[in-house]
Amino acid sequence: MRSSLAGKGDLTLVSALADRQDNFGKPLDRYGAVTHEVFNQPVELVDYNLFASDAALTEAVKREGAAWAMDGLEAFGAHAGSAEFLELGTLANKNPPELDTHDRYGRRVDLVRFHPAYHALMKASIEEGLHSSPWTDPGEGAHVARAARYYMQTEVEAGHGCPITMTFAAAPCLKLQPDLAAEWLPKIQARVYDPRNVPAGEKQGVTIGMAMTEKQGGSDVRANTTRAIPVGAEGPGRAYELVGHKFFVSAPMCDAFLVLAQAPGGLSCFLVPRWRPDGTKNPLQIIRLKRKMGNVSNASSETELRGALGWMVGPEGRGVATIIEMVAMTRFDCMIGSSAAMRMAVSQAIDHCRQRKAFGALLIDQPIMTAVLADLAIEAEAALTLTMRIARALDHRDDGHEDALARLGSAIGKYWICKRTPGHAYEALECLGGSGVMEDSPMPRLYREAPVNAIWEGSGNVQCLDIARAIQRSPQTLEAYFAEVSSVAGESAALDAHVAALKDDARDLADFEGRARDLCDRLAIGFQAAALIRVGSPVADAFCRSRIDSRGAHQYGALTGVDTKAIVRRAAPR
Ligand SMILES: Cc1cc2nc3c(=O)[nH]c(=O)nc-3n(C[C@H](O)[C@H](O)[C@H](O)COP(=O)(O)OP(=O)(O)OC[C@H]3O[C@@H](n4cnc5c(N)ncnc54)[C@H](O)[C@@H]3O)c2cc1C
Repeated sequence: MRSSLAGKGDLTLVSALADRQDNFGKPLDRYGAVTHEVFNQPVELVDYNLFASDAALTEAVKREGAAWAMDGLEAFGAHAGSAEFLELGTLANKNPPELDTHDRYGRRVDLVRFHPAYHALMKASIEEGLHSSPWTDPGEGAHVARAARYYMQTEVEAGHGCPITMTFAAAPCLKLQPDLAAEWLPKIQARVYDPRNVPAGEKQGVTIGMAMTEKQGGSDVRANTTRAIPVGAEGPGRAYELVGHKFFVSAPMCDAFLVLAQAPGGLSCFLVPRWRPDGTKNPLQIIRLKRKMGNVSNASSETELRGALGWMVGPEGRGVATIIEMVAMTRFDCMIGSSAAMRMAVSQAIDHCRQRKAFGALLIDQPIMTAVLADLAIEAEAALTLTMRIARALDHRDDGHEDALARLGSAIGKYWICKRTPGHAYEALECLGGSGVMEDSPMPRLYREAPVNAIWEGSGNVQCLDIARAIQRSPQTLEAYFAEVSSVAGESAALDAHVAALKDDARDLADFEGRARDLCDRLAIGFQAAALIRVGSPVADAFCRSRIDSRGAHQYGALTGVDTKAIVRRAAPR
């Protein structure tokens, strides 16, 4: 009875609406199914060229020695910015990796399954040489061109960059053990992605991970308790069996890992493959996958080594010095990755605000929002400019100044750029209002990913200690720093004063730890300001005004005397 009455009521309502118009003169729908028109909502930012639309990036590539790579980068940028490719990033994070420790018959498999989108991203990165190009094709602009590609690829998806970076960074470390390098490097550097869980001998291309961190210590790897027991003769290149645990092993489907363990002669570095040369599984067992707030597409595991076979890399007892060759390069990639995250955040924020109105005007034209967007763009451009300056230094390590700058600059840049990213992601997210919090926008992914680069490969304080170590052990690094920032003396009174004060404070490292954050912040700001001035960046003046004087102690958008509209126009992705 009730339902038939309700039905009659509905029909009466529909017929009453049938020929009527709404307050704006539009016909009301015959069946009442269309409730409203969607307006004042942006069109998604897809199908744009990540390279051609990025003035700061294109200028940096030309300037820092990779003009020869422009055409290839433009083609890459068009592909990376396509809707289909951007969607891979979304899918790889919506569908996290899953672990099977055993097969259905109870045999140990230690198999991580990834969504096809993750494999597609890995394949693209490896076929583009993001894991190897500066080593296989060194020369003018090699690191710069690779950094530009890695940057665009990270705008699409950050998580898969972890194994790409580790594979890339393994080369300088492995070269310290020429016999192992001769055997492994050709496959490490091949542009072939083969994700099968089979011995490396059956593959044309392999990937490399790293396992240092243990439960009792990550920064302090000297606390490692994993033991390495010699199988026969001892020493570099010789076989050992490893027993212990690792608390973080990312990308556990890599074909081999650089692992730190205590040999009889002290903490040493080992290359440990997933499979033994006889085709049996090496007992490198994945206990569980980490449940991470960000970096979701990338699998990170807890692993136990139960007599896993490995070969010593570099001198016995010099494990940290050996693996630091790898860590130095992963730190540089953290700079690229966090700069890319900032770029994507700026692109999303500007593109939203150029399409969204509030109180009768587009957000992008409302002065407070223009200032916020400009400030976000300044931060992103400063990050990229410093990163590309270091890429150039890496391309010229035979030059003393560039080598010293690469050493200290990558430590400063890793510390500062990665640390600036979470706040930047948050402010960019807020530009999208409530939609910025929604999981179907890219913003939550950028926000949750943002702290990761700051933590791994040397957390903030540890980076500060590394900066002090570089200055103490190699004073020429600080000389190179001051030569670099002084090359633009006279261009900005604020920077000149900043550098003068820094010279006094940074040369005296007594009580460094108590002053470390202050000194490292100032080193970073001075470096970014000088880099922007050196290249004639349109944001240089605004950077000096807003960063040097107030030393970053402001919310985004607290800019004065700056042409914010021009800065936003320059940074707009379309
Ligand atoms: C997503 C993810 C993936 C990872 N993947 C890997 C991997 O594949 N392989 C691997 O080996 N590790 C990996 N790690 C581990 C990572 O490298 C460590 O978490 C990191 O080095 C910090 O170590 P910890 O967690 O033990 O923290 P701790 O070393 O305990 O540090 C805690 C805090 O104390 C600070 N601190 C440490 N020492 C000092 C000091 N002397 N003075 C002042 N402050 C100090 C640190 O800066 C940090 O803020 C991964 C981590 C994450 C988050």
